[in-house]
Amino acid sequence: MTTRRLGAGKLVIATHNAGKLKEIAALLAPYGPECISAGALGLPEPAETGRSFAENAIIKARAAAEASGLPALADDSGLAVAALDGRPGVYTADWAERQWFEGAPGRDWFMAMGKVEGMLAALGPDAPRGAAFHCTLAIAWPDGEHALYDGRVEGALVWPPRGDRGFGYDPVFVPTGSDQCFAEIEPEEKHRISHRAAAFALLVAGQFAG
Ligand code: IMP
Repeated sequence: MTTRRLGAGKLVIATHNAGKLKEIAALLAPYGPECISAGALGLPEPAETGRSFAENAIIKARAAAEASGLPALADDSGLAVAALDGRPGVYTADWAERQWFEGAPGRDWFMAMGKVEGMLAALGPDAPRGAAFHCTLAIAWPDGEHALYDGRVEGALVWPPRGDRGFGYDPVFVPTGSDQCFAEIEPEEKHRISHRAAAFALLVAGQFAG
């Protein structure tokens, strides 16, 4: 694990997603780095060919750091279902991708949640319903050094989906200790207990504390 730390200078956020950029910039605002998005710099998006959240986060952070000559931060996240050997895992977003025979291209989260539920149902009525959301953050420097921060939140899957907040698989995930799923709880509460919050807490402690 590196002891290298970010300064108050420029930090590329390796995402082309405006929502993610806004959320990450807000989280880092108290600590001084000047956040710029990879999209605003016109950097290409690398293929996410890793077999783990960490590998994909490093691929994205390294590509942005090498192309920009600046330190870069990337995240990779997803849902791992224990009874499905950790699937969908790094393919969490891909499971929502509509196929050509399913109509207009785009992501269908109800279809993705149904696929997970169908696979659990195929294991029988007693299949364990435990799952975890993971978030791995990678910081890469232009010379190739990197640091990783891993957050996770444990919980269980419910069916049918509930609630209209959040995104992705939020309507079927109940975090341990709650009886409401992520799509039912207040966004402020989700942001306090989520896998992303856990990873950012480690990043802030490792990079900016003290
Ligand atoms: P990526 O990290 O942008 O590759 O996206 C991973 C996928 O994981 C997202 O598209 C969501 O479907 C899912 N995901 C990650 N975090 C959450 C969350 O907090 N709630 C629901 N789904 C999530």
